Amino acid sequence: MPTQNGELPIFNLYINGQWRPPVAEQYRATYDPATGEALAYIAQADIEDTRLAIQAARSAFDDGYWPSLPPGERSRLLHELVDAIEARQGEIADAEMRDGGCTWRKANLMDIPVGLIHFRHMAKLANFEPLEPVPQIAFPSLSYNYVRREPIGVCGQVIPWNFPFLMAIWKIAPALAAGNTVILKPATFTPLSALKLVEIIHDTGLLPPGVLNLVTGPGQVVGPELCTNPQVDKIAFTGSTEVGREIMQQASSTIKKVTLELGGKSPNIILEDADLDIAVDGSLWAVFMHNGQACESGTRLFVPSSIYDPFMDRLLDRATRLKVGLPSDGATDLGPVISAGQLASVERYIELGLEEGATPLMLGVRPSDPELAHGNFITPTIFADVDNRMRIAQEEIFGPVLCVIRYDSVEEAIRMANDTIYGLAAGVWSTDVERAISVANRLRAGTIWINDYHLISAEAPFGGYKQSGIGRELGTR
Ligand code: NAP
Ligand code: MG
Repeated sequence: MPTQNGELPIFNLYINGQWRPPVAEQYRATYDPATGEALAYIAQADIEDTRLAIQAARSAFDDGYWPSLPPGERSRLLHELVDAIEARQGEIADAEMRDGGCTWRKANLMDIPVGLIHFRHMAKLANFEPLEPVPQIAFPSLSYNYVRREPIGVCGQVIPWNFPFLMAIWKIAPALAAGNTVILKPATFTPLSALKLVEIIHDTGLLPPGVLNLVTGPGQVVGPELCTNPQVDKIAFTGSTEVGREIMQQASSTIKKVTLELGGKSPNIILEDADLDIAVDGSLWAVFMHNGQACESGTRLFVPSSIYDPFMDRLLDRATRLKVGLPSDGATDLGPVISAGQLASVERYIELGLEEGATPLMLGVRPSDPELAHGNFITPTIFADVDNRMRIAQEEIFGPVLCVIRYDSVEEAIRMANDTIYGLAAGVWSTDVERAISVANRLRAGTIWINDYHLISAEAPFGGYKQSGIGRELGTR
């Protein structure tokens, strides 16, 4: 529960079922990227705090009843938790919008409802049969073999700032469903929705102390302790490929299980028989949803020469109508990017695109509207004549920048689409679904949408090929 310091609430660490100040009593403000306004003071854990959280999770796993609860009982408790979260979803949506700069629409129509669906899916999966008989083919009369599905143990979980609530759900829900105990570390830019989530869970009194711990603080301090502490059994990370490499190295010292959900530079391929009405809007949605700050964003748009001009005319016409504005305005399509540093980085990539010789059909600028003067706003950029080998086509920009690449044959499009170190997602647009599937089958990516984008089904596993990650989240097992 937050306490108050003057105007601003103060949030402590959540360890062993209690809110407690960090040992070194360090706090840091979190800000609204649309206004620059400070929203709250957030506890900054150090190594000692992280160890306390790990100890709490360890004892809750080794000595507590959570891991050995009958799966049906765990499932029932998790369903109750989701109901409690749903009853207070407005508080989470508000935290998400103000802390992370996502639009009111994204928070209320997408992130929170989808998070609830995904949590319910995991609560349902928690009701599994742990014993699975193994067929006795070689020695039918001599033995009875079975597989027993068990929790892994203590799970350290580190999440990014772009989908703070959804990522928190993707981490804690499956871990709890299987009977693990958890230490969750949200991103420094966006701790509020995870704090709200844990506050709601705490208020239900349904989880034993130590099963779920929340440690806010710098990733460079908390992360290495979670990755190297021998009391932690698994590390699950979503974030940049760069930090993912560090995590893998650090986790190797104790051979921890590791899952990584990392970056992307996803291709979005228009086939020449695509329905332009949906493909044009779909392509803008694919790249500009949340300002391109999604790991799966369709940032490389492949357009066939045969329909290039009509397609691009329509794309530009629709793109110029996108509204950059305050997240709280229901008409806003693009809010602010997460930070001043991210804004500067996007601007450097726009400069780079010009230097590399791409043609700017729309050039991102800081909007002149005085209402937006204190936020990290930038209008969308569309580069045409992009060569897939350019840095703007190969590096993750994580901002509202679309690279359009023209192609002559589908073979060529597939080859360029796969020519990246990443392999998280892709899109294919065609009125011939069989044909779209045959293209999709040749794309090296974990999730491929056909005539759609960003819709992530709880039943389908999500995760990357190549340097986009290791392991899968969601799915049915
Ligand atoms: P990031 O810099 O890698 O940070 C992600 C998280 O890791 C934050 O909580 C951060 O803490 C923490 N961290 C930083 N250094 C660490 C270290 N040495 N050890 C352990 N943890 C550390 O990524 P980001 O900039 O927040 O997020 C954007 C990236 O995430 C993009 O590359 C995007 O593609 C990727 N992403 C991938 C998926 C997916 O599902 N594949 C989903 C969303 C985002 P602090 O905030 O305190 O620095
Ligand atoms: Mg913030």
